[in-house]
Amino acid sequence: MIIVLKKNATEKQVQHIVDTVRGWKLKVHVSRGTERTILGLIGDERVILGQPLDIFPGVESVLHVLKPYKLASAEGRTERTRIRLPPLRKGGRPVVLGGPEVVVMAGPCSIESRELLFALARLVKKAGGKILRAGAFKPRTSPYAFQGLGAEGLRYLAEVRAEVGIHVITEVMDPRDVDLVADVADVLQIGARNMQNFNLLKAVGQLRKPVMIKRGLANTLEELLLSAEYVLSEGNHDVLLCERGIRTFETMTRNTLDLAAVPLLQRESHLPVIVDPSHGTGHWDLVVPMARAAVAAGADGIMVEIHPRPAEALSDGSQALLPKNFIKMMTALNAVARVLGRKV
Ligand code: PEP
Ligand code: MN
Repeated sequence: MIIVLKKNATEKQVQHIVDTVRGWKLKVHVSRGTERTILGLIGDERVILGQPLDIFPGVESVLHVLKPYKLASAEGRTERTRIRLPPLRKGGRPVVLGGPEVVVMAGPCSIESRELLFALARLVKKAGGKILRAGAFKPRTSPYAFQGLGAEGLRYLAEVRAEVGIHVITEVMDPRDVDLVADVADVLQIGARNMQNFNLLKAVGQLRKPVMIKRGLANTLEELLLSAEYVLSEGNHDVLLCERGIRTFETMTRNTLDLAAVPLLQRESHLPVIVDPSHGTGHWDLVVPMARAAVAAGADGIMVEIHPRPAEALSDGSQALLPKNFIKMMTALNAVARVLGRKV
């Protein structure tokens, strides 16, 4: 960290800052120029994140040198994080996220019934999808909207996982449900609306199971990385980042899918990056083109919603792909992935 002092800073003010910084167990290098004095703080400045150094008397500006997210940062790391979901059956293949393969996660927005979940799980697996997505606990804008089947839904998910042999991802909304969800899920999903539910992040940080964090509706990428940092700092190293669109002035889409997030997050971090073009656009006919674009941008995985009868879906029908379109999408994604030396 570099502290630039005001031109008229007094010796007493300089000494006060130097003493304070040393009290934080950081070293200080004082550089006196003809015009002004600059202090260089030596050591991990993140230990004093949040200290309002800029309001100290005599301080003109403060410059951070290190990223505030230490564990999520790509800085000083040569290898990217690969998350391995062990095979569900003897002789089966593991699913690896963050490797050469682009992993497709697909399924209904909500678990609506046992039958529908089974049918969609079989479809996803047959078409080459590796992970079934389906919500049991649903974060709905209105309290009157379908809230999900809860524990009953999780039971269906466990059955499907065992019988169909497909890994599952599902959302956990409440720290009190973390163990219940972790009993079933191969990957726990933190929804956009809970991206900064810090108690929830700490709770899933205690697990030794992968966690996918979705970017909040109005959150910056730095904030997303800091949310990942919460989980990592609790000792859980298997974190996935998910871009799912942000709120902008545009109203013709549900959200604005920020695809620059993909290369940016991959530059800043070693964690795998997933893109959700379903919530990212809100319209089924925009989902496939944006999924293709996400793979082209280098995404490590795609998450999409599907439904055989979107008009009857209990949530998010307008953005659900019909099975036939999902199958077509898989072929298209494979073609795009191959251009980049990857495959779906
Ligand atoms: C979901 O994926 O089921 C979901 C609710 O998404 P988001 O949290 O991104 O809105
Ligand atoms: Mn949804």
